[in-house]
Amino acid sequence: MNKDKRIIIVGAGSTGSSVAYHLSKITDSEIILIEKRGIGSGMTAFSSAIVRTHYSNEIVAKMALESRHIFESNRENLGFYRTGMITIVPDSLKDRMEENVSMLKGLGINEQNLTEHEASRKFPWINFDEGEDISYEIDSGYADSVLTANYFAKNAIDSGVKFIRDDVYKIENEQGRGKVVLKDGKIITGTKVVLCTNVWTNKLLSRSGFGEEELLPIKVSPHPVILFKRPNTISGLLPIVSDLVDKDYYKFEGESLLSGGNLRSELDNTNIDPDNPPLEVPMDYVSDYAERISKRIPDMKEAGFHSAYYGMYDNTPDFHPIIDSLTSLGLPNVYCCVGLSGHGFKLSPALGRIVSNLIMDKKDPALGYFRLLRFKNGNSVFKNYEGIGTVG
Ligand SMILES: Cc1cc2nc3c(=O)[nH]c(=O)nc-3n(C[C@H](O)[C@H](O)[C@H](O)COP(=O)(O)OP(=O)(O)OC[C@H]3O[C@@H](n4cnc5c(N)ncnc54)[C@H](O)[C@@H]3O)c2cc1C
Repeated sequence: MNKDKRIIIVGAGSTGSSVAYHLSKITDSEIILIEKRGIGSGMTAFSSAIVRTHYSNEIVAKMALESRHIFESNRENLGFYRTGMITIVPDSLKDRMEENVSMLKGLGINEQNLTEHEASRKFPWINFDEGEDISYEIDSGYADSVLTANYFAKNAIDSGVKFIRDDVYKIENEQGRGKVVLKDGKIITGTKVVLCTNVWTNKLLSRSGFGEEELLPIKVSPHPVILFKRPNTISGLLPIVSDLVDKDYYKFEGESLLSGGNLRSELDNTNIDPDNPPLEVPMDYVSDYAERISKRIPDMKEAGFHSAYYGMYDNTPDFHPIIDSLTSLGLPNVYCCVGLSGHGFKLSPALGRIVSNLIMDKKDPALGYFRLLRFKNGNSVFKNYEGIGTVG
């Protein structure tokens, strides 16, 4: 292992672990993965872990497809279940949905448009309203996010990556090297440092001396997830439902649970301290959610409330990642893959590969889309479902 060309990765969620895994395959540099808690214990552990390819822009759809192939070929190690996914849009988004479906088909994704009548016959347990447009993505599903992060990290460690459990207090530039200062003052330097620190990125940058106006354009937005115990009439693995009319999504977890979240822009417009997230989802939020889901899936009227929790999204203005060096902050040897905006788990295999290319100075067509400067230059990553950030 070449210590002179050491690479330090901060954060061992699905992103950092995948970066470590991919880098370990293509470099002889020493790689150190630093995580303040456990592997996969950050927002990765709170993820709904839906693995879909229904995106409205080609570049991210391709990344999702590449990643889904990894989940499919590694089913057991990554805990992947193929369930299919139904997307429902209101009449106003019908044309856009149809455009998306033909774009996705062009990429080789097994996706079909259904009329309300066809969808009602195929999925009699869902109420579809007149005028709604439906797409069905056959190969989508969900995976086990903690297992996935641990699988990548374990493989990386087995290939020689060094894992350190510690808290990075600040990062600096020192004579052309990235300098990582741990909480106890210990210093580690590397030719390259990669931040995969999700909602905690700006806190680390603040501690490193950057002012409010220099921080990355990331809002930390709490998103509730609610779990229900399903009645026996609706048990087993069923397709995920992405209801863009009510902006809710439902995932049929295992035999008898349903977990659901919401995609409303009100949730995305908040910005909180990631070390002080709200703890309890208010019961009136839960009962409103239960009422909506019972309208969409009548069997759910008999469901029991199981539990609810808040996770946090690291939202950028266009709800797509920042994968770049922090040269504009005076940290040319520090890179980041952050701002995954509540949809980064499914992309983790592709993100690991793309970030590795960035670190190894290899060309990658995806990199041009995710630069930090795009927010200043007005080059946002295209999205077709306005107001529904994470579906972008
Ligand atoms: C409620 C919810 C539902 C979601 N649903 C989906 C979904 O269905 N499908 C999907 O694709 N995505 C989903 N996502 C998004 C997805 O889970 C995340 O984008 C992804 O898991 C983020 O992984 P990460 O490794 O970037 O971040 P994290 O898992 O948060 O990992 C970052 C790690 O960095 C560590 N860290 C931070 N600062 C420091 C420091 N200074 N020193 C050392 N370590 C540090 C943290 O401890 C943490 O472990 C969801 C997210 C949430 C919150």
